[in-house]
Amino acid sequence: VFLYASSVRDAEGTPLYSVGHVQDIREQLEVDRMKDEFVSIVSHELRTPITSIEGSLTLLGSGVYDTRPQKAKAMLDIAIKNSNRLVRLVDDILSLERLESGKVELLMEPCQVDDLQQQAIDSVSAIADRAAVTLRMTPCSATLYAAPDALLQTLTNLLSNAIKFSNPRQMVWLEAQIWSPSAPAPQRLAERFSSSPAAPDQFVLFSVKDQGRGIPADKLENIFDQFQQVDVSDARQKGGTGLGLAICERIVQQHGGDIWVESQLGQGSTFYFTVPLWQVGDRETAQESQFN
Ligand code: ADP
Repeated sequence: VFLYASSVRDAEGTPLYSVGHVQDIREQLEVDRMKDEFVSIVSHELRTPITSIEGSLTLLGSGVYDTRPQKAKAMLDIAIKNSNRLVRLVDDILSLERLESGKVELLMEPCQVDDLQQQAIDSVSAIADRAAVTLRMTPCSATLYAAPDALLQTLTNLLSNAIKFSNPRQMVWLEAQIWSPSAPAPQRLAERFSSSPAAPDQFVLFSVKDQGRGIPADKLENIFDQFQQVDVSDARQKGGTGLGLAICERIVQQHGGDIWVESQLGQGSTFYFTVPLWQVGDRETAQESQFN
């Protein structure tokens, strides 16, 4: 904490009064520290696939596999897999950076909840088929004032995680329902509602539920943080980046909603998020909320 003091004097130089100025730079230092940490994690995350691509291409270029085409093909596959990973990482880092810096304004428009649900299901149905996971959807016929692409990205991130961490022949449910204060609420929603006097009358409550491996209790708190993974091998083995949930959280927050997870290790997880269902007269407030 810095304290600056200066005197205001008259024309003859006689001190009239002193002005004190206190500047608390702790918050700025914390932001700087988090930025440094982010840059160092990002550099590490990017370096791993680059090193692998470099290694496989160097081996191929050296000619050691010229007479062993199968081995050469395996090396090429490693390089391709890692360059795909690099593209995913860079895309996610850029999305997150844009959302955090507020550089892109989410363009809100009326969107049909059941359409969004159907599009999300369609975009993950191929990976669900491959994983032999069955998808189920409970549609909701509400109209939201929201950014459709961003909400779709949130739903597909949650669904693809649910599929990734499920076993064959398990099910994944995507549900949406209108929740209003008079209805029984999941605990987290009830807490949020009572703590927020500006809360709208109704929300759409989305949930993505799986029967997969679940998340240990000690990881639940930080699971939405950047590069947080239950297992260090999750990124490489399951093809993730560790940024999907951080992106979901920013998108939901920009809509004035909330996101959370309930999970039982070995039993499955349910990710919930809300999007305020503003009445027409509340639209201005809704627009303001995206800048908060
Ligand atoms: P990733 O790209 O690694 O999936 P996310 O931010 O989407 O990154 O998820 C972070 C981590 O949270 C995952 O690596 C995994 O360890 C855990 N996780 C996310 N969703 C689930 C789920 N449905 N079941 C079990 N673990 C999950």
